[in-house]
Amino acid sequence: MKILASACLMGENCKYNGGNNLSEKLLEFIERNNAQVVTVCPEVLGGLPVPRVPSEIVNGNVTNREGVSVDREFRAGAAEALEIAREEMPDLIVLQSRSPSCGVKEVYDGSFSGRKVPGKGVYAAMAAEAGFSVVDIEDL
Ligand code: SF4
Repeated sequence: MKILASACLMGENCKYNGGNNLSEKLLEFIERNNAQVVTVCPEVLGGLPVPRVPSEIVNGNVTNREGVSVDREFRAGAAEALEIAREEMPDLIVLQSRSPSCGVKEVYDGSFSGRKVPGKGVYAAMAAEAGFSVVDIEDL
């Protein structure tokens, strides 16, 4: 099988704080299924730097903690990551929880206070809408 995964889950240091979310669970899943893996980081594909100011979806518009809109970068990166998915045609897309790009079932509420609400990040929403099977790493 082939999966497409958030790059940070595979140990790439592409998170806003320069770190990663390396997931043993994902590595085990890959080994168990002898899976081929493609990684994407929609935010880096959108031209955002590492590290970067953290962002949340504020009234539908991705905005960083300093109040600057990064919506265009997020949407451009998500569109590019969707193109990669269309080229690669993975059986499953596995994404990092609660990211404003990759979150599959919940995201932060836009108040930068740690509160979560049901919803999807920009990339997770696009990929699901395009018909891909998208799963949160927590539910893998
Ligand atoms: S955009 Fe996705 S892949 Fe990139 S750091 Fe955030 S959660 Fe990880």
